[in-house]
Amino acid sequence: MQMEMLTSSVMHAPGAVLLISCYELGHRPIGLTRPLRALEEAGFTPDVLDIAVEPLDLEKVARARFIGISVPMHTALRLGIHLLHRIREVNPDVSICMYGLYAKLNADYLLSHGVDFCISGEASTQLVALVQSLVDGEGTEAQEADVHIAELPSLEMYAQFEDNGEIRTVGYTETTHGCKHLCTHCPIPPVYEGRFFAVQRDIVLAEIHEQVVEGATHITFGDPDFLNGPTHGLRILGAMHEAFPSLTFDFTTKIEHILKNREHFQEFAQLGCRFVISAVESLSEQVLTILEKQHTRADVAEALDIVHDAGIALRPTWVPFTPWTTLEDYLDILQFVDTHRLVYHVDPVQYAVRLLIPPGSYLLNRPEVKTLSLERDEASFSYVWAHPDPRMDELHKTVNTLVENDGRAGIDALETFYRVWSLAADMHGSRHAPSCRNQHQPAPRITEAWFC
Ligand code: SF4
Repeated sequence: MQMEMLTSSVMHAPGAVLLISCYELGHRPIGLTRPLRALEEAGFTPDVLDIAVEPLDLEKVARARFIGISVPMHTALRLGIHLLHRIREVNPDVSICMYGLYAKLNADYLLSHGVDFCISGEASTQLVALVQSLVDGEGTEAQEADVHIAELPSLEMYAQFEDNGEIRTVGYTETTHGCKHLCTHCPIPPVYEGRFFAVQRDIVLAEIHEQVVEGATHITFGDPDFLNGPTHGLRILGAMHEAFPSLTFDFTTKIEHILKNREHFQEFAQLGCRFVISAVESLSEQVLTILEKQHTRADVAEALDIVHDAGIALRPTWVPFTPWTTLEDYLDILQFVDTHRLVYHVDPVQYAVRLLIPPGSYLLNRPEVKTLSLERDEASFSYVWAHPDPRMDELHKTVNTLVENDGRAGIDALETFYRVWSLAADMHGSRHAPSCRNQHQPAPRITEAWFC
């Protein structure tokens, strides 16, 4: 599309810049809040929309001269493409930028399908530079305008923290961007190439403070891996706890980091940590090697002891359907969850997660993937693969339907778990191993069974 240079007064007018988020795991999107702040500091007066929790405001779309769509994950990108067509119907000439992890991975496709710009990595700075570059040479100072404050949806509209039957409001922040690890299935390494960046302590603490004022009593630290920079994280936690002693929190970290930072978990608990998410993905040595996770089954069991001994819940996440995961491996995961009393630590949707291979994935460099007959499906932003054992593809479909239906019907996670196990065992022709059905205790969680 031919880019039109806009005068400074046009681009600085209230609502001339519009930022839209489609989906960000059920929390208030940091893909909106941080670029919003950066644009405001640069003198712009943007509007924001989070269509995960509010309708698409067509007046805002029609008024905009530049629209940024945040696509930090696969689900957001798929929603973003629908949104793109709707925006073009309403405002054909607006400049559209997609930003976030999945923008770079799919830039070829997006730029040839109606997107004008793609940005990944440090999006806030790049967005400001891009918007400024679209303004002609008459200066970029803020123009006199009525006071305009972009309104973010209330925290109450997002997923909540649930602990022992108590429901509380959640705030969200990140202390770092990127990751120093190179797990092959993860979308972060192709963009950050093993680097991570600390966010200034004052910025993080200010975000926490604002959300506490709004009613948050629990904070999710959504860093890709909170323990990439443990000293930075601990300093922030210390200051947060001093300011708000009753605030609780959760964070995400890899199994390897739990083992390396074992001495800190009692302190995390004292500072208010209620649960930790860790991407276990598999227990199979072969699958863990291909995904380059740098942990073993024994490490997972050890990490569970470390976290649980500190009085914190460990919530493992899984990728139980890969081209190399056998039916026996799948049953092994279920047995592990049962034996370690983890049924309420795993959202049932996790039993249906299928390995996603997006364009640019580091998995494409693995010899095991080169021998698969992959088909690129441009419109679904991924490569399509089939399991060599057709039962696994059938099981995936059946489990997917089961967890979806049970979720919609409000079936207890324990019930769904044993249904999934029964399906897999029937397919295998084996019987359920003796279970710990009566020994599973509810665990703290966020009330959103998320999709990446
Ligand atoms: S899976 Fe986690 S540890 Fe691995 S590269 Fe991604 S963010 Fe980093």
